[in-house]
Amino acid sequence: MLKVEHVTKYYGDFLAVDDLSFTVKEGEIFGLLGVNGAGKTTTFRMIIGLLDKTKGEITLNGKNIDYSVTDSIGFLTEERSLLTKLTVKEQVIYYGILKGMKEEEILAKLDELLAKFNISEYKNRKIKELSKGNQQKIQFITAIINDPKLLILDEPFSGLDPINVELFMNVIKEYKEKGSMIIFSSHRMEHVELFCEKLVVLVNGRSVLSGKIKDIKKEYRKKNIIINGDVKKEELAAIKGVVNVTKTANDYIVKIEDESYVDQVFNYVKKCSNITKFTVEEPSLNEIFISKVGESYEG
Ligand code: ATP
Repeated sequence: MLKVEHVTKYYGDFLAVDDLSFTVKEGEIFGLLGVNGAGKTTTFRMIIGLLDKTKGEITLNGKNIDYSVTDSIGFLTEERSLLTKLTVKEQVIYYGILKGMKEEEILAKLDELLAKFNISEYKNRKIKELSKGNQQKIQFITAIINDPKLLILDEPFSGLDPINVELFMNVIKEYKEKGSMIIFSSHRMEHVELFCEKLVVLVNGRSVLSGKIKDIKKEYRKKNIIINGDVKKEELAAIKGVVNVTKTANDYIVKIEDESYVDQVFNYVKKCSNITKFTVEEPSLNEIFISKVGESYEG
């Protein structure tokens, strides 16, 4: 288990991470969220020991993280740091050896991963000749070449097209199935909502929302009702328990205090004509975040 306990980081007088605590268990995917400058990269650098903490403790299976455990860690850095003059094969061998692997073991794993990412034909090409997305695949392959027990991914999806986002997510899920601890950062709530169970949202280095997504949604009792048909916005807004009503291109979105008010809205809608949709939905994480923090979270 990765344990981050009451970790604080000051750069001079500037507080970048403020009393942050969370745990990541084997087989868990954990999301670290926050807008630019929230403290995500600083947190990752402290976890892998690239940066000293000002206060707090970070342990992996009860041990401090130092050179004795780095062979079981994979790290995808935010600033893409490939050796662009090397070929894909040379680059991956270089990092694999740094992780204590034997060359034949690296080559076997490389072939398997290149095939998985549909880029086998680039094995002997120079990194600088590859597109940005393919370079990112190589960097990801470099991070997982040693089958890490702890996989840290700083903005793994940035710059990827939707097909490659899904490909990356599927590979990350495979590592989850194998029991790895995975921690990734993103400033896009929808990426997190799609595939992780637990998260921390950082604002100015401080956690403003944390826990299991299921519990966060349960605790946030407000629900949305989506309606399509001849209803009147003012009449919906006047119903008890309705917080607000928004009209989109096709539907009305009615936000209610909690589930107990669904019946009252339904009773009104029953009296209206041409109703083609009445759906009760959980709010998105993005909506919960905006409502909790009161600011836009589009990054
Ligand atoms: P982004 O999404 O933009 O990568 P982030 O959440 O990863 O942001 P960090 O890079 O951890 O954020 O930075 C957190 C804060 O600490 C920012 O305000 C940043 O300017 C500041 N900071 C980061 N590195 C240093 C440093 N070496 N010296 C001083 N301040 C720093």
